[in-house]
Amino acid sequence: MKHREISLSTGGKDVCSQRDCGKTPKRSLPRKRAEKSGVLDLPGSSRKVNLCSECYSLYKKSTKKNRTLESLGTNPAYR
Ligand SMILES: [Zn+2]
Repeated sequence: MKHREISLSTGGKDVCSQRDCGKTPKRSLPRKRAEKSGVLDLPGSSRKVNLCSECYSLYKKSTKKNRTLESLGTNPAYR
């Protein structure tokens, strides 16, 4: 077998997981959490995703909203 494109499944560390972003990631976080933010488009199926500082700040902004809701009393999403 030729070994080509193996990096697609394992070595995708050096690129942000956001679709069409392709920047150098600064943070990695669980895919579930990133998807919950609703602001990111994350192709692939790895359990962790990498985000560059830009995409991470998008994610962060969205979680801030959630956090406000959570601090109102109900805390359904926080596990
Ligand atoms: Zn990015």
